[in-house]
Amino acid sequence: MRNVIIIGSGPAGLTAALYAARANLEPLVIEGLESGGQLMLTTAVDNFPGFRDGIMGPALMAEMRAQAERFGTEIRAGDVTGVELGSPPFTVRLSDEAIETRALVIATGASARLLGLPSERTLMGHGVSTCATCDGYFFKEKPIIVVGGGDSAIEEATFLTKFASQVTVVHRREQLRASKIMQDKAFANEKIAFEWNSELVEIKDVDAGVVTAAVVKNTQTGETKEIAVEGVFVAIGHTPNTTLFEGQIELDANGYIVPGEGARTSVPGVFACGDVQDHVYRQAITAAGSGCMAAIDAERYLEA
Ligand code: NAP
Repeated sequence: MRNVIIIGSGPAGLTAALYAARANLEPLVIEGLESGGQLMLTTAVDNFPGFRDGIMGPALMAEMRAQAERFGTEIRAGDVTGVELGSPPFTVRLSDEAIETRALVIATGASARLLGLPSERTLMGHGVSTCATCDGYFFKEKPIIVVGGGDSAIEEATFLTKFASQVTVVHRREQLRASKIMQDKAFANEKIAFEWNSELVEIKDVDAGVVTAAVVKNTQTGETKEIAVEGVFVAIGHTPNTTLFEGQIELDANGYIVPGEGARTSVPGVFACGDVQDHVYRQAITAAGSGCMAAIDAERYLEA
C-alpha cells in the first residue's frame, strides 16, 4: 500500500513527487512511455525561471528527476494499463502488477494530435514527424511542410528553417491562429511559404517508405496539388492522455480532466496537475506549479 502514486514524469509529475517526498510520503512515480514528458522533445527552454541563460529541455527534466529522487521518490519505468478509482484505496495496474494507493496524482500530460491519414501513420518516423526539435536535424537542405496555424506550427516552421531548404506551412484557413509576434517573424522569413485554405490529404510515397510529396487540397476550390517535399511535420495541437480515466473521473468535452478546487478532481483522493487538466497555459512552469499544488492537496487529504 502506497501513500501516493504519481502517474507521469513531466514537470507536473516530478514536482508533485518532490513535494510529496519532502512531506515523507515516499511517493512512487510511474514514469510512462514518454518519460520526462514533452520537454524531452524540446531544445532550449528560455522561460523557466532560475536559468538566466536558458537550459535544454532534457537537462531540465534530468535535474527535476534527480531532485525528486534526492528526497526518496521511487521512479518506476513502464506505463499504467488501468486504474480503479471507485473508492480508496485506489488500484493502479501495470502490465505485471497491481498496486494500491491511498491517494493518486494524475500527471499524464497531453500528446500530439494527428490528422488521421493512413499515409501519415505509415510514414511516421520515416519522414513524418510531430516534433520539429527532435527530427529537424534529419531534414538538412530538404524541402518540408508543416501542417497547422497555431503557435506550435509557426514556432516549428521557424525553427525548421535552420535546417530545411524550404518550409511550406499548410493551413486550413487563411488566417493564422498563432500570436502576432510569431506570425510577424514567420512572414519575414524568406524560407517560409504558406498554402492557405489548404488541407493535407495524402502523403506520398507509402510504397517506397519515404516522403516524396504532400498532396494538398484547396478547401475553397476543391483543387488538389502535389508539393514535392521530403518531410511532413504535423503541428495541430494536442490531446490529453486521459483514456485510462474515462468513466471514472469527470472529463470535459475535449477529454481534459475538469479541475476542482486546487488540484482536486471529481474523485476525493485523486488529484490532477499539468497539461492533462490545463488546455490554456501548457507551460513547464505552470505544470510544475500545479504539481506542487497536487502534492500539497494530497498530503492534506491523507492527513485528514
Ligand atoms: P492550437 O493553438 O490548438 O492550434 C492548432 C492549429 O492546428 C490551428 O491552427 C488549427 O486550425 C490547426 N488544426 C487543428 N486540427 C486540424 C486538422 N484536423 N487539420 C488541419 N489543421 C488543424 O495548438 P498549438 O499550436 O499546439 O498551441 C496550443 C497552445 O500552446 C496554444 O495556447 C498556444 O498559444 C500555446 N503555445 C505557445 C507557444 C509559445 O508561446 N512559444 C508555442 C507553442 C504553443 P484552426 O486555426 O483553423 O483552428
